[in-house]
Amino acid sequence: MRVYNFAAGPATMPLEVLEEAQSQLSDWDSLGMSVMEVSHRSKEFVSVADEATSLMRELMGIPEGYSVLFLQGGASGQFSAIPQNLTAPGDTVDIVNTGSWSKKAIAEAKKYVSVNVVADEKASNYSTVPDAASLAQTPGAAYFHYTANETIGGVEFDYVPDVDAALICDMSSTIMSRPIDVSKFGLIYAGAQKNLGPAGITVVIVRDDLTGNARPETPSVWDYAQMAAADSMLNTPPTLALYLLNLTLKWVKKNGGLEGMAARNQAKAAKLYEAIDNSDFYSNPVAPNARSWMNVPFLVADPSLEKEFVSSAADAGLTNLSGHRSVGGMRASIYNAMPPEGVDALIDFMKEFEQKHA
Ligand SMILES: *Cc1c(COP(=O)(O)O)cnc(C)c1O
Repeated sequence: MRVYNFAAGPATMPLEVLEEAQSQLSDWDSLGMSVMEVSHRSKEFVSVADEATSLMRELMGIPEGYSVLFLQGGASGQFSAIPQNLTAPGDTVDIVNTGSWSKKAIAEAKKYVSVNVVADEKASNYSTVPDAASLAQTPGAAYFHYTANETIGGVEFDYVPDVDAALICDMSSTIMSRPIDVSKFGLIYAGAQKNLGPAGITVVIVRDDLTGNARPETPSVWDYAQMAAADSMLNTPPTLALYLLNLTLKWVKKNGGLEGMAARNQAKAAKLYEAIDNSDFYSNPVAPNARSWMNVPFLVADPSLEKEFVSSAADAGLTNLSGHRSVGGMRASIYNAMPPEGVDALIDFMKEFEQKHA
C-alpha cells in the first residue's frame, strides 16, 4: 500500500513518475537496458538532459543570459561553491539568517569571505522573516543571500528582497512551487529531493555575467563556467536522478505548470493552517505572513502526546510527521507531489486525534 508521505526530503514523488520509471526500468527507450546502464554521452541520454534543461527554462520562464546547471554535492555543496565562484579573498557578502539552513550557509561562507548577517530572526526564535524595509545592505557586498523557505522552521519569505548586489537564493524547498521572476536573481539553487525529484542532483540557475571568475582552487565540477561549457557533463552526471527529474518536470507541465502548482499548493496549505488555527489543541508557531506553503510545523498543547500522534498517524498511512530533531513537534511537508487528498486525510486524522485526547 502506498502511504501519504509527509517527509521533508527526500520527499514524496508523483506516483505517475514512479510508475512511468517502473514501466521502463529494465528496457528504457527500447534499448534493451535501463537508463542507468546507458552512456551519459549517448544520444538517448543527452536528449533527456536537454529536455530537462529546456523544461526548467520553459516552466520557470528563465530568460536568456542564464545557465541551468545540474550539479552534485547538494544544496550544501553550493554553500561553498557560491563563494568560490562569486567572490575573491577579502570580499564581504550579505546573508540573512532566518533559521537552520541560513546558519549552515553562513558557517560555510565564512570559510571564504567575511559575512555580514544583515538580519537575524533570533529574537522571534526564527518564526519570522525580516521586514523588507529593514534589510541593511553592505555597500560593495559581492552578493546578498537568503533562504526562500526554511524547511525545518516552516518559515517562508513572502517577498523577494530588492537589493543592489547580486541576489542569491537557496530555493531548495520551494523551487517550482509557484511562479517567480527569475530576472530578479543572480543565482538560484536547489537540491532536487524536495520538489524536483530524487536526491543526487542540485539545480543551479545562474546569470552568466556572474560566472567565469571562480577562484583558481574551485573544483572544476563546481566551477559554473566550466560546467556550463560542458553542459553539466564535465563528469558523469547522476543519470537515473536526472531522468527522474525530467519525468517530474513533465508531470509539473502536465499539471498546469507553475500556475497549476501554485493554486494547488496554496489551497493545500490554507486548508491545513485553517484546521490548525480553528483548534485549541494544535498550534503553529510561525508569524502568519511567513507561513510556509511547503513545510507546516505544528504542536499539540500537551507534548507528551507527540509520540502517539506520530505513531498512530503512521498506522493510518500518514507517515514521517515528526518535526526535525532540532525543533521537535510535528511537521507536515506538503510539496508539489503531495496530493490534496493527502492533506485532507491528515486533517481528518488530526480532528479524530483531537476528539480522542482533548
Ligand atoms: C534540504 C535543504 C538543504 C540541504 O540540501 P542537501 O541537498 O542535503 O545539501 C539546504 N537548504 C534548504 C533550504 C533545504 O531545504
